[in-house]
Amino acid sequence: MKQAVIETDHLDYGFQKGERILHDINLHVPQGSIYGFLGPNGAGKTTTLRLLLGLLRSENSGIRLFGNPMPGSRIDILKRIGSLIEQPSLYLHLTGRENLEVFRRAYECPASRVGEVLQVTGLSDAAAKKTKAYSLGMKQRLAIAIALLHDPELLIMDEPTNGLDPNGIIEIRELIRDLNRHQGKTVLVSSHLLAEVEKLATHVCIIHQGKLLFQGTLAELQSLQHRHALLEIEVDDVARAEQILSGRFTVFAQSGFTVHVAHAEPDEAASINHMLVGGGVRVSRLCAVGNDLEGLFLQIISA
Ligand code: ATP
Repeated sequence: MKQAVIETDHLDYGFQKGERILHDINLHVPQGSIYGFLGPNGAGKTTTLRLLLGLLRSENSGIRLFGNPMPGSRIDILKRIGSLIEQPSLYLHLTGRENLEVFRRAYECPASRVGEVLQVTGLSDAAAKKTKAYSLGMKQRLAIAIALLHDPELLIMDEPTNGLDPNGIIEIRELIRDLNRHQGKTVLVSSHLLAEVEKLATHVCIIHQGKLLFQGTLAELQSLQHRHALLEIEVDDVARAEQILSGRFTVFAQSGFTVHVAHAEPDEAASINHMLVGGGVRVSRLCAVGNDLEGLFLQIISA
């Protein structure tokens, strides 16, 4: 297993005494990964990220970043992290470059960093524009530029594509990918959009009602997804189709002219079709369903 940049050991958390918002969360964020932290609204993503950053405190939380305990080594840890949890307060009457300059002085970074982060985030041409004229996507890129000023090894971003139009979403996705591949950053990015994480992440964690449901590589998730996939077949005689297939497969007759076959490998589709046609059943449609992350997610949380 690759060295973990973030680890939690049976992390529990409640805002009030006796309350538990997070239950037994064991995160393992490998160095060099884009770690997609997935869950619906209210799942506990922001609470977890705030704990990781020491914005919420929990003694004995078992949180370690770069091998050091949080909150014990908070200051040393934060020097190595860039975060985008709440919207940063941009000065709208200042230009992009001036905004960066304000934060650069506060963070005591070298002057050269401003030009560098403008370039990395694709804002060099807009650097002299007042930020009130920036699109939402540009404001988000500026926020990422601010988070990058001190050249952190790890970026933690809470729903960075929220509210952006499709173009803005693509730009942020490409920026995150570039930061990971070409700047060597480990990125933890939370999202409630499964399709988004599937396009971006190398590793995925699924959290629901404060509990961790899945953690692994994208390939492991897709193989799980594959095991849950169904083959949907439209036939002229459901009862006969069920009779033919039920010896070898788990078959569910659906209403009308549809049957579902569970756990069928995609390369078994041809032999299933052959069996049906050979048995005198007419097949008008045959396709895999539940084959996206959305379908998988629903199956895991309703299991
Ligand atoms: P969202 O995308 O909607 O923010 P999330 O997965 O980030 O969802 P959290 O914001 O971590 O979820 O919220 C988890 C639970 O904790 C929710 O039930 C929420 O109401 C509760 N919660 C969050 N912040 C507080 C707070 N400051 N005080 C009390 N309860 C809170």
